[in-house]
Amino acid sequence: MARKAEWETLKERSAKRFGEDSVFGEGPLSSRLAVVGEAPGEQEVEEGRPFVGNAGKLLNKLLEEAGIERSEVYVTNIVKVRPTKEGEGRTQNRPPRAGEIREGLEVLSEELGFIKPRALVLLGGTSAKALIKKSFTLNSDHGTLFDSELGWPALATYHPAYLLRLRGVGSEDYDRLRSQVVEDLRAAWQRAQGDG
Ligand code: URA
Repeated sequence: MARKAEWETLKERSAKRFGEDSVFGEGPLSSRLAVVGEAPGEQEVEEGRPFVGNAGKLLNKLLEEAGIERSEVYVTNIVKVRPTKEGEGRTQNRPPRAGEIREGLEVLSEELGFIKPRALVLLGGTSAKALIKKSFTLNSDHGTLFDSELGWPALATYHPAYLLRLRGVGSEDYDRLRSQVVEDLRAAWQRAQGDG
């Protein structure tokens, strides 16, 4: 079976398992770098693509500043379904539960096993704890290359949604952490190219 058809089969299996509102990864099937987020949000479900909302737009800018085209990387999430809760009269995002992460990891493992990237960038503490170690803390461990649970070298950095929250409250940490994310993305890219 052609590579693209094999990947489509994985995507269809994921949709059967998690439902038509689930969001699979996207990007070149020969990507050397894979970016792994937590779970899709409202916009992602609407478009059926990962990282297309506000956090995704910031991710695209950060990648560009690190010298990386989004179209060159494979972008996906651990959890394929938007985790939601009802509150304040509307549907809101919530952190994924342990069981949702476990199920998501089964599919992510097959997905990345197919792409075979040389390095992973994990966005946010949830992804880092799930794929690197439970005791992972972004403040001390971001930007460091670890062996991930799935076998690929992985480094984690701050989630763009977190940067947006910092900016929203006018935090003085925003500029510093934003620069760190760009640096971390650049380091992961160099590692994925085999020259870092
Ligand atoms: N946040 C994520 O972790 N993933 C997305 O796809 C969008 C926002």
